[in-house]
Amino acid sequence: SDKTDDAIFHMENDFGAHHYERIQVVVRHARGCWLTDDKGNKYLDCLAAYSAANPGHHHPAITGAVMDALTGHYASVLSNVVFTDPLGVFLSEAARFAPQMAPRFGSHGNKVLPKNGGVESVETAIKTMRYYGFKQKGIPDGNQEIIVFNNNFHGRTISVVSFSSSKKYKEGFGPLTPGFVSVEFGDLDAVKNAVTPNTCGILVEPFQGEGGMIIPPKGFLAGLRKLCDENDLLLVADEIQVGMGRTGKKFCFEHENIVPDGVILGKALSGGLVPLSVFITNAALMDMVFSKGSDGSTFGGYPLACVAGTASLKVFEQEKLAEQAARKGDILKQRIQEIADRSVHVKEVRGKGLFIGIEVKDGNAMDFCRKLLKLGVVVNDSHGHTIRISPPLVINEEEMDFLVDRLEKVLIE
Ligand code: PLP
Repeated sequence: SDKTDDAIFHMENDFGAHHYERIQVVVRHARGCWLTDDKGNKYLDCLAAYSAANPGHHHPAITGAVMDALTGHYASVLSNVVFTDPLGVFLSEAARFAPQMAPRFGSHGNKVLPKNGGVESVETAIKTMRYYGFKQKGIPDGNQEIIVFNNNFHGRTISVVSFSSSKKYKEGFGPLTPGFVSVEFGDLDAVKNAVTPNTCGILVEPFQGEGGMIIPPKGFLAGLRKLCDENDLLLVADEIQVGMGRTGKKFCFEHENIVPDGVILGKALSGGLVPLSVFITNAALMDMVFSKGSDGSTFGGYPLACVAGTASLKVFEQEKLAEQAARKGDILKQRIQEIADRSVHVKEVRGKGLFIGIEVKDGNAMDFCRKLLKLGVVVNDSHGHTIRISPPLVINEEEMDFLVDRLEKVLIE
C-alpha cells in the first residue's frame, strides 16, 4: 500500500489490541534472512518469527506451491467432511516425517491431527493425554493430571495459560483450567514426586525457548521417558519452536535418543507461510482417542495450508535444514562464545544448532536487542535476561559475519 510508516503505526495502535511489545519497524519486504523497511534499511532477521521462518522468508518452492494452488482447482477451505488430495498427501508425509511415536503401543505407524495455530495442537495433545488416562488407565473423568514445567510456554488459550508460571499471562483471566501440576524444569526427582495415580501424561519443551533459552540437564528427557514407561504415562514433546531442524536435529528430542508418545509441530511446518500445526502420535492411540465428532477445526487441514506443509517438508529434506543448523550453529556459537569471553556483560552462552541464547549479567537483554536493531539486526529477548539468536536456518557465512560483527559491537563496547 502507499501508506506511510506513521499512518501504519497509527492504524495498528488505534485499531489493534496492544498485546505485544513492539519494535518500531514497518517491514515492507521480506526475503530469505532479510527484512527491509520503507527507507530501504535492511535488517538481518535473527528472530525468524520465533522459528516459523526456518527455511527463510518467502522460500521460492513453498511460495511457488501456494501460488500454484491458488491458481489451480481449489485452495480455499472445503471442510473436512470431504476428501482432498492436499490433505491426504500432507497427512501421509507428516505421519512419516516423525519416527514411530509411542512404539510400546505397536508399530502401527503414526497418525496426524492438523490444526492452525500451535496452541490448538497443544490442546489436542492435552485431550489425548487426558482421554488416555480416562479410557486406558481408569482415572475418573475430571481427575486427570498432567505434569508440566515451571517457565513453560505452550501458547495462550485459557487452558494453556492456566499452567503458565507467568502472572502476566493469566491474572484476571480466571476461572483457570485445573488438572496441571507444574514442577522445576530439569529436576527429575521433582517429576517423580509429582506422579500420582491420576497422572496421565507429561508435556515438555525439550529445550525451553520462551523460558529463557534453557537446555535441561543431560539425561532429563531420557529420565522422563523412563518414568513414563514405568508409570504408563504419555510423554508429549512440544517441538513448535525447537522442531523442524532448529536445534540441529529434525526433532530436539533426538539429542537424547528418545522417542516420545506424541509430538506437536507448528510454526515452520508450513515454512511460516500460512498457519498450520499438527499433533502426531501412534495410529493406535489416535484412533483410541478421537472418534467421529470428538474433535474438529474448520480450517485445520484446509487445502492451502496442506500444500504449504507438504512443500515445506520437502524443502526441509532437500535442503537438509537440520544439518545446516547443526553445522552453522556450531560455528556461530563458538564465535559468540569468543565475544562473550571478552565481554563484561555476558553471563553465559548456551544453545544447540541455530538456537542460541546469550544471557546478560544485568538481566536486561532487551537493551541489547534495541542496540542490535539500530545496527540492522532483529532479535528479541527470552525471559528478560537472555538474547535469543534464532535466524532462518539458511543463513549464509556473510550473514553470520554481519551478525557476529554487530554482536561484538554491542557486547564489547
Ligand atoms: N509452544 C511453543 C514451544 C511455542 O514457542 C509457541 C509459540 O511461540 C506455542 C506453543 C504457541 O504457538 P502459537 O503461537 O502458534 O499458538
